[in-house]
Amino acid sequence: MVKIACNTQKSLELDFLLFQFSAFFCILSGDRTPNTMATINWTEEFKPLIKKYKHTPHPLAFKNPYQLVIMVVLAAQDSDRNINKVTTPFFEEFPNFKALAAAEYDTVLQFISSVRSSRKKTKWIIEIAKAIRDEKSIPRTMEDLTALPGVGRKSASVIMKELGAPAEGIIVDLHGVRVAPRIGVASGSDPKKIEKQLMEAIEKKYWGDVGMAISHLGREICRPTDPKHELCVMNNVCAYCNGTPTQPLFKKADTKRLTEAKAKEKSGKAVKKGIAKPNITPAKAVSKKR
Ligand code: SF4
Repeated sequence: MVKIACNTQKSLELDFLLFQFSAFFCILSGDRTPNTMATINWTEEFKPLIKKYKHTPHPLAFKNPYQLVIMVVLAAQDSDRNINKVTTPFFEEFPNFKALAAAEYDTVLQFISSVRSSRKKTKWIIEIAKAIRDEKSIPRTMEDLTALPGVGRKSASVIMKELGAPAEGIIVDLHGVRVAPRIGVASGSDPKKIEKQLMEAIEKKYWGDVGMAISHLGREICRPTDPKHELCVMNNVCAYCNGTPTQPLFKKADTKRLTEAKAKEKSGKAVKKGIAKPNITPAKAVSKKR
């Protein structure tokens, strides 16, 4: 009896290892099924994600349209956290476009010197302030926004979304570049190409929300390492961990087992070190889990 219990325990532990191993393989290989991509109704599939994050505020803590424009320009290639920090004293000194337009380059630079590409951005935001002058004149189209210095398609889409202007594109940020190809709705690593694929796959009426929804998913759940598939509303269709959309790797039973195993691990009954790695190829490991 003792031996059987021991074997059962080892079997469970091995199962858990295989489960983790298959997920790891999945991550490494980026397992995808391009042939299924065209048959998926992506608009429908993204609706739960859009719903989940529809009212999640943008991570940049702007308080008015002026702050929005300036913070979006400063945030390119930098972290939202840093921009939130840096702009607190900045906006006290330069509370509107008019104040910024009248400011000296060196004075502005002092306030944002810790921002990436601060010299270029100082020049850009002063030029933008001079061009816009007041909040009512902030452009609300892709063409007019991208004509401003330092404003690309992504920045323009963020500004348009937050100002309530109709979307003309889809926000693809650093997280979107990682998550959209994982899901299987797009491929490659070029944000412009990924945006184009998303625009082809998703109905226009959802363009405004879907980009930030993907971004929030990437920030919260689909992290670069250890994505939390079991918590993800896209896990039934996501190509990263599904052989086909109708055969999800992460079935409810798997999720339950993973949750239980993790709880067990936390309580000190984790899989002990030294257990031999399974003698199995990654492909077999994946198929065994299905
Ligand atoms: S299921 Fe969700 S968390 Fe997992 S890889 Fe896909 S999008 Fe990311």
